[in-house]
Parts: sequence; C-alpha cells; structure tokens
Amino acid sequence: LSVSDLVNASYERIGQVEDKVKAFLTLDEENARKTAQLLDEQLGKSDERGLLFGLPIGIKDNIVTEGVTTTCASQFLRNFNPVYDATVVRKLKEAQAVSVGKLNMDEFAMGGSNENSSFHTTYNPWNTEYVPGGSSGGSAAAVAAGEVYFSLGSDTGGSIRQPAAYCGIVGMKPTYGLVSRFGLVAFASSLDQIGPLSKNVEDSAYLLQAIAGHDPQDSTSANVNIPDYLSALTGDVQGLRIAVPKEYMGEGIDPQVREAVVSALKVLEGLGAVVEEVSLPHTEYAVASYYLLASSEASSNLARFDGVRYGVRADNPKNLLDLYLKSRSEGFGPEVKRRIMLGTYSLSSGYYDAYYLKAQKVRTLIKQDFDKVFEQYDVVIGPTAPTTAFKVGSQVDDPITMYLNDILTIPVNLAGIPAISVPCGLADGLPVGLQIIGKALDESTVLRVAHAYE
Ligand code: GLN
Repeated sequence: LSVSDLVNASYERIGQVEDKVKAFLTLDEENARKTAQLLDEQLGKSDERGLLFGLPIGIKDNIVTEGVTTTCASQFLRNFNPVYDATVVRKLKEAQAVSVGKLNMDEFAMGGSNENSSFHTTYNPWNTEYVPGGSSGGSAAAVAAGEVYFSLGSDTGGSIRQPAAYCGIVGMKPTYGLVSRFGLVAFASSLDQIGPLSKNVEDSAYLLQAIAGHDPQDSTSANVNIPDYLSALTGDVQGLRIAVPKEYMGEGIDPQVREAVVSALKVLEGLGAVVEEVSLPHTEYAVASYYLLASSEASSNLARFDGVRYGVRADNPKNLLDLYLKSRSEGFGPEVKRRIMLGTYSLSSGYYDAYYLKAQKVRTLIKQDFDKVFEQYDVVIGPTAPTTAFKVGSQVDDPITMYLNDILTIPVNLAGIPAISVPCGLADGLPVGLQIIGKALDESTVLRVAHAYE
C-alpha cells in the first residue's frame, strides 16, 4: 500500500459521500497528491517514517495553512490566504501526515451545529436529517463518514467533544496550553484548545503525540515534558477512582443518554474501577459564565477584522469609520454579531463589575469544584452532551436552547483541564458520547480510561 493509494482512497470516498455530508470547505487535492508522491519516493529510499506517515488528515478551517484559504467559515475571510502555517500544521508536516483539505465549522467557531457556517451546513453521516454538532462539525463528520483518517478541531466550550459525540467518534480537548494556539484564529483565547478527532482512542493518542509540546510562539504554551501517550494505553483501570457528578446525570439529561452512560460505568466497574457519586455544585452557572467570558474575549479578538488587515474590504466607503462599519456589517454573520454585542456590553465600564468580573469569579469556583473532586478521584465521568444530535433547523432560531446544549462540556474549558468523548452506544439510532475528564496535564489517564472502555 502506498501513500498515494491512501490519499486516492480518501478523495474517492470524498467523491462518493461529500455531496450528502458536505464536511469540507476547501479540498487541497493537488498539494496532497504531490506530498503523497514525495512520501512514496521516500518510502523506497529510507526506513525513516514520521509518526503519522502518509495518513490523510483534515484540518478545521480556523487553523491557518500557508497558501491554502482559511475562512473560519466566515464571508469576512472568504479570500484569506495565510502566509504561514499554524504550529500544529507545521508539526503535522513534520510527522508526515497528508492534509487533504479544510473542514467546515460554525463561523469563527461560534455554535454547536454547523448551521452558523456562512457557506453551507454539514450533515450528520449517521442520518443526514440531523446536525453533526459543532463547531468542529466538519471535522467530526469527515472522520465519521470515512473521508479522512482523522482530523483536527478546536474546542472553546465543547466544539471537539460535542460533534465527536453526535457523530459517534472520539474527540479530545487537551489541557489548556498543551497544544500551541499559534495560528489558530482566536475566538476566546483563555479557553481555546486544538485537539484530535478520530475513529478510536489510539489514533487520537498518536495525533496528540504529534501536535503537543511547548511553543515559544504561544505565550500561554505549557513548558512541560510530553509523556508517551501510546504507552498509557494499557487497558488497566484496576483500582482507578471514578467520580460521577450528580449534576451531570440529573434533570435535563435525556433518559436514554443517562442509561448509556450508566452501562458504560458498569463496564468500567467490571474492569476493576471504583465508581462513586460526587457533586460539582457550581455546574448550573457554567453556561452563563462561559457565554459572558467567551463573548467578551471574542469581541476583543475580533476587533482585528476591520476591513483593512485581513479578508474582505467593503466597497465605496465614505470614510475610514464607514469602511470599518460596512466591512464588519457585511462580513460577520448574525451569531458572531450577537456575541460581539454581548461581549462589548459586558466589558463596558458601567457593566464590567456586574458581568465580566462576576463571570470570572464563577469561573474560579467551577475550577475549585474540580480541584476538590480530583483530590480523591482520578477521573470525572458523565455524558458529553445532554442529548443526541438534533434535527437540522430545529434550534437555529433559539440561541438559548443551543447554548444550554454545552452545559456538560463548558466547565472543562473554564477549568482548563483535559477531556475526551468516546462513543458509548446509541439512543434512537444516534450515537451517545461518554465524557472522561482528567486532571490538568494528565492526558495519559484520560486516554487510558477511554481506551480501556472502548
Ligand atoms: N457551542 C459553544 C459556543 O458556541 C462552543 C464553541 C466552541 O467550543 N468553539 O460557543
């Protein structure tokens, strides 16, 4: 089997299913085939192989790729051609993976269904009447549909784990700072993390191994030694202590989802783990706190899109202010505008203490909830999302309902800790995700538990 065979197979599959799934925004076929050829030549000449040698990968379209359009699924950036690679993209190239294209998402990663993409919606490969989740919906759908071997997504409040759950695959948000954000178009800088999506836990471990590590170009990058994640996959969870927060299993959680999680916990108990109920008392404030903080950071980060520096510039402005106003009015979609308005409001001098500062304090309380539980337990387990995927169009007009879907993933971002979603059965024919949450920088345990379960 040659690398060209793998890349051919990827494009062949894309040809078969992409008109139904619509996971991609850009296909990078010429480059991919050229890279495959070069790797095939290397194959004949030497025994050296990168960690991801020859594997076809898809990249979420908010991760910059030199010479390949990077739109963040926004009209604002429809013509944006980056002049450099994100650190993770450079690392993928060093590991000798082959990028086949850029994947659809909610505009600027704001959303949970892919319906906020300004280009088109992506559909859930399990049933195309349903959303794939979001914001990394393209990244999840492409893997689930077999179009790529694995993919990269980004997770600010659940955007890797929730679509992974909805599409029946594995998706992991690493500890904040483990993977460089250099070249990830910023949404909420204190929450954003890049991570892997794949069919199984081992593949996510490989991908994480390739992209993790200190990067001087990201000032929030953690300067730590990266363990060997593959060797953590021992299958052994004997004596491991699992905490199940009652807030994650109670009201608002679909009974079938709860049932699937309970069965998964029984499997882990059968493997020798100890399962106990705990409380994360501030869970109910997570969504409100997140949407204030994430929107505040977004309003500040997105100030750079002014019609001058990146992307599209409005025609015939009357003056400079008009250029800003017109470019931003035309370039941003409704959800992005909603967040910029909310964030600007909560950061304004009269409301800062009441909203932004209050939300920061709640964030600390949520982190302390986890700290306390992790004094006695190795991992926290619950569902990834309260329900399975919902129907396309069923929540587009209801942002609050959409926001509440994130209740179980958001606390993890607020606390900066790692979590993975692994498939744990079906409810009414749609996949359920099991979320395994770990201590900061303890990806090894998270992966070990996920691998033992799957
Ligand atoms: N659904 C959440 C939001 O809309 C999470 C998004 C994300 O993680 N990028 O903000």
